[in-house]
Amino acid sequence: MVKHSSRIELKQSAYKNNISFIRKKIGGHPILSSVVKANAYGHGIDAFVPMAEKCGIRHFSVASSFEAEQVLNSRKKESHIMIMGIIYEEDIPWAIEHDIEFFVYNFDRLPVALDAAKKVGKPAKVHIEMETGANRTGMPKEELNPTLSFLKKHQEYLVFEGLCTHFGGAESQANQFKIDLQHKRFKNFLKTCQSKGVLPNTKHIACSAAALAMPDTVYDMVRIGVAQYGFWPSPEIYYNHLHEVDKKSDAALKRIFTWKTDIMDIRKVDQGEFIGYGTAFQATHEMTIAVLPLGYSNGYPRALSNRGQVLIEGKKAPIVGLINMNLFMVDITHIPGTKVGDEVVLIGRQGNSVINVSSFTNATQLLNNEMLSRLPAAIPRTVVK
Ligand SMILES: *Cc1c(COP(=O)(O)O)cnc(C)c1O
Repeated sequence: MVKHSSRIELKQSAYKNNISFIRKKIGGHPILSSVVKANAYGHGIDAFVPMAEKCGIRHFSVASSFEAEQVLNSRKKESHIMIMGIIYEEDIPWAIEHDIEFFVYNFDRLPVALDAAKKVGKPAKVHIEMETGANRTGMPKEELNPTLSFLKKHQEYLVFEGLCTHFGGAESQANQFKIDLQHKRFKNFLKTCQSKGVLPNTKHIACSAAALAMPDTVYDMVRIGVAQYGFWPSPEIYYNHLHEVDKKSDAALKRIFTWKTDIMDIRKVDQGEFIGYGTAFQATHEMTIAVLPLGYSNGYPRALSNRGQVLIEGKKAPIVGLINMNLFMVDITHIPGTKVGDEVVLIGRQGNSVINVSSFTNATQLLNNEMLSRLPAAIPRTVVK
């Protein structure tokens, strides 16, 4: 197989560290569902899922049946798969066939799931997602009673696997009033289940931010995305953690992601010459320039033109000129001894230097999640110790 122009490495020891940190926060009982939507936040489902399984994860959450199929094809164990978002009606029998659980947020979905379950000859495992105040998907409260009756009546074919909701903005203290209200509404829905005698196998509402900062939101399962990849959900959650442990800094969560490429070519550029397209960068002195074989089509943000940096020989090399579709150039005048083929770190550590996703996204106004999840699926991902 020929080589791609860049590659991503996932560090298993860092992931293991993150999982044990999260486990300590949530306690031993709850299921830790690893949220791997958006190609595992850009980390790559194919490589990530077996690595997570090696660290003890047996439950994965995705946003679509398409992603569920990717997990199904990547898992090495009998891990559970849960679809939190879109599943088209025609794919429901497929999900039931493969024991894939899915969110239901409309009463109308239930008879459809029942029909499919009867046809497949196997029960459908449904999680009833309640509307509590995020107002995206979520079952309207009027539909809970009929839903519970329906589930009770058809329990042979419909397993009430979960009752859940999703917080709209748990990472920010400013939203606390809204989160509290959402939680209160959820508790009321639980009471309705109890009074009707129709109980879910699991209750789950916490995402990373809630699981790390609000212990009372941790029920039987937590759905952890961003934190397992080594990112604090927000600066304030990190700040609160530092106060809790009484430290000035604490690497409790570690990034597991390194993005690398190699130097494609090296050239001298005379003073006064322009580098790349247009006149975006003019050499102020005789410079040595390294050409790198990737660009914005490979997920490297064009907004880093003339302002980003990469690591070569453990030193920072500034980007000169515009990020092109498949190429960009960096200044290596101050890094003698560099050769074509030398390793370049785009995000991650090399020697004593680091380029964080956040330094990257500060300049581009992208969210960490946005930047990571846009990395093309075609970039190969491998796991390292
Ligand atoms: C994305 C998502 C999560 C995970 O959120 P993080 O903040 O990344 O932990 C949990 N639940 C639902 C419904 C989601 O869509």
